[in-house]
Amino acid sequence: MQATISNPNDLPEKPGVYLLKDVQDEILYVGKAKSLKKRVKSYFKEDLEDPKTRVLMRHFHHLDYLVTDTEKEALILESNLIKKHLPRYNIRLKDDKRYPYLQITSENYPRLLITRNVRDDGSHYYGPFTDVTSVRSLLKLLKPVFQLRDCKRMDGPCLNYQIDLCPAPCSGQVTRKDYHENVEKVKLFLEGRQKEVMDLLQKEMEQAALNHDYEKAVVIRDQLFSLGEVMEKQKMEFNRSLDQDVIATSNDGEVVVVVVFRVRNGKIMGKDDFLMEGAQENSPPEILTAFIKQYYSGPRQVPAEILLPVMIEDHLLIEKWLSEKIYTNEYPEGGLSDVLKNQYGNDTDHLSVSVRVPEEGLEHRLVQMVTKNSSIILNHHKQARGALLDLKTYLKIPKIPRRIEAFDISNLAGKNAVASMVVFEDGKPSKNYYRKYKLETPGPDDYAMMQEVLRRRYEKLVSKGETPPDLVVVDGGRGQLNVAIEVLDSLGIQTGVIGLAKEFEQVFIPEVAIPLILPSNSPALHILQRVRDEAHRFAVKYHKNLRDRDLQSSPLDEISGIGPKRKMNLMRHFGDLESIKNASVDEILEVNGINRNLATEIYEFLNPSKN
Ligand code: SF4
Repeated sequence: MQATISNPNDLPEKPGVYLLKDVQDEILYVGKAKSLKKRVKSYFKEDLEDPKTRVLMRHFHHLDYLVTDTEKEALILESNLIKKHLPRYNIRLKDDKRYPYLQITSENYPRLLITRNVRDDGSHYYGPFTDVTSVRSLLKLLKPVFQLRDCKRMDGPCLNYQIDLCPAPCSGQVTRKDYHENVEKVKLFLEGRQKEVMDLLQKEMEQAALNHDYEKAVVIRDQLFSLGEVMEKQKMEFNRSLDQDVIATSNDGEVVVVVVFRVRNGKIMGKDDFLMEGAQENSPPEILTAFIKQYYSGPRQVPAEILLPVMIEDHLLIEKWLSEKIYTNEYPEGGLSDVLKNQYGNDTDHLSVSVRVPEEGLEHRLVQMVTKNSSIILNHHKQARGALLDLKTYLKIPKIPRRIEAFDISNLAGKNAVASMVVFEDGKPSKNYYRKYKLETPGPDDYAMMQEVLRRRYEKLVSKGETPPDLVVVDGGRGQLNVAIEVLDSLGIQTGVIGLAKEFEQVFIPEVAIPLILPSNSPALHILQRVRDEAHRFAVKYHKNLRDRDLQSSPLDEISGIGPKRKMNLMRHFGDLESIKNASVDEILEVNGINRNLATEIYEFLNPSKN
């Protein structure tokens, strides 16, 4: 039930969620309560102590509320509503889409993939991981061991079957039950329960040997061996077997960071850091409470223990919620899978979650270490923020450039022309927003090419109603800057824009005749240099890929005397095959390593009609 009122006395004394709103019906704050009436009435006291609540109530106009059966339901609803509406006065976990996850799909024969899109689609997600390289190597190690298919359409069997990387469910070479047993093992493994996977495999190997199925026993022995190697690679072992998330926070009054260390089976499996918004004036227990509710409300693996430096609010309620979540997440049909039944029987006590503040020993030191990490990360953010603030002042732009989009063009005499767009958020590259463009502008016309890429990027942004970046950086001087201003103006986009010339580090600013030279040791200049170099690297890489693709299979291969080196020299000189075809013998002769005989042969081969 949902209702709108403005007097808290009209609220029921029941558990539920309340949404405080302003006069425009904008949600200012979402909260949950055991008794809606009691909780909301506390906002209407004369002498509100908390300054943030005082400001909130100055904007308050009316409220909506929803009654729930239990306080736990209210907790879940509150997390979902905060995630959906991001109310200004709630503590909000900054969007964590940039982190990669491992996904076990919900298909009939599931696949194991890397993704940054966590959806409520029945898949199992593991993560987030801090960096994509470590996820890739984990995937590479797990695929041959557990042999999950990696094709989009099961239209094989393909080479993967021939080289023992897939059991070929596409052609019925494996039963669905056998395939799913492997899927279950991957899940256990990714939950950090590697030892259980090893024990299961050991039992299966012994059973296969007893049944005289020696082929199967050998396959399992190899799996055991490979898994042992994978586990060896995971460093930083502790003496005890732990399955915990260790969470700490740091707050300097402007930036609030939360750090999570994921410890599985005694090993630190990963570390992630998150920025919290709207939390500068809140206490550590308030910040950690808000974080835990939002962090675990998505499809995320819940550990057996959560270790903290200070106790959170509602900790018993949160423990109960997480304990139920761990159970329903892992066994959505409400029962243990066959594989797990063998392991545990029907005992599910081990699935309860406890939230603790360790006072001494290894766990206490672990919490201290995570707290120290959070203050180091906070310092990095502070430095980046200082540099961005300087940049705003130097460039005279309206906002701190928290999101920068930078463009670079790469081509060879107009051939294979491409452009890159890289994105930096809070001074750090956000690679999943990077874009590459194959340009259609004919000829080597730098201005027209820059115009094309900017138009394509920002017309799309406008059509999707997205927010423009705080700063647009184009590679080049005054000419490129003018092109950028013209495109942005024509689309009605008002934001900071500069041109950055490679030579002499000159910064071209709108309406300022003389280019700016930033101090060479200034962190603001270092950010601009990183942005520019990254855009350049990304554009050159794409251009090179296109050129290599042209090079890979080319009619030039059919001319005797043309090897990879001469082919590369020809392509470097002319840019593409069409230009070589249009060149005269004398022009071909200008290329390194080509003599007159070979030049004539190339000319005649590419122009048979002219012979
Ligand atoms: S063998 Fe079949 S199921 Fe396996 S990857 Fe190849 S096509 Fe896909």
